[in-house]
Amino acid sequence: MEVIHSPDDARRYVWSLRSQGRTVGLVPTMGALHEGHLSLVKAAGTCDSTVATIFVNPTQFRPDEDLDKYPRSLDEDLEQLKNAGVKAVFVPDQERMYPEGFSSYVEPPEVAKPLEGICRPGHFRGVTTVVLKLLQAIPASHAYFGKKDYQQWRVIEAMVRDLNVGTKIIGCPTLRESDGLALSSRNRYLDPEQRRRALLLSKALSKTEAEFRAGETQIEELQQCMRRTLLGLDNAAAATVGSEHGSTPIQGMDKIDYAAIVAADTLTTLSSLDRPAVAVIAGYIGKTRLIDNRELNIS
Ligand code: AMP
Repeated sequence: MEVIHSPDDARRYVWSLRSQGRTVGLVPTMGALHEGHLSLVKAAGTCDSTVATIFVNPTQFRPDEDLDKYPRSLDEDLEQLKNAGVKAVFVPDQERMYPEGFSSYVEPPEVAKPLEGICRPGHFRGVTTVVLKLLQAIPASHAYFGKKDYQQWRVIEAMVRDLNVGTKIIGCPTLRESDGLALSSRNRYLDPEQRRRALLLSKALSKTEAEFRAGETQIEELQQCMRRTLLGLDNAAAATVGSEHGSTPIQGMDKIDYAAIVAADTLTTLSSLDRPAVAVIAGYIGKTRLIDNRELNIS
């Protein structure tokens, strides 16, 4: 497996494959890899070659966020990618991505405005900028993004469409632990009690989806159902994530940033459930911010 540090070397590498008519799948990551990332690598396996990137992008973190604390494990990450069959990994350093005098940013599309756009102003500007830079260095035929970061996937889709980038964007399903918790690099910050409470996100989504399948179509009712579960007020759900020693109900999430049902394409508020929708949650367990979502397909 090649480890490439410079954008020019990366572009040469990818063009040599593409000029032979080969497809190249790109998997961008910030490292601290887990099975969720590896599921994207697996999806990219339908391409002739897979290229991954590892770069903790400073421009998508706000000053009060966890950039310095963000987990880094480069050696293990490279080992995992090699074992997963990745052909090349692009690991640029800060100076190569943001050299002195850097001042051009990508204005994010409309779909970046709600939800995370409100809670994390400036975040998607950093994401669109770095992803466009990665796509310039690695002009892949396909790029794979997790629906775990649902809004991010939609933002990248829109940016690539709006700016005529020739890479096809593929959204991949969220990989979960056996109990339902969505895999995330940030889960390692959770202590055992917080880890149990983190299950409330997937419980809330499952409960809401079940109510939807059972015929509930009132968005406000479904959102209330999500919030009740997240706050630990739904006794049945709370009991299933209770203490190890019994079913003592637990405290809910410490802060809910949003728990909403929105249009699956624009992520804007819906007045009725008459088109594909997605239930989205973001909030804190202790100091750790977690997000999760579930698509609600209208049949
Ligand atoms: P990150 O390293 O957190 O920036 O994530 C890199 C890519 O992996 C993004 O496209 C994420 O959406 C995706 N990803 C993260 N967690 C998961 C997961 N549990 N299942 C599927 N994809 C994921």
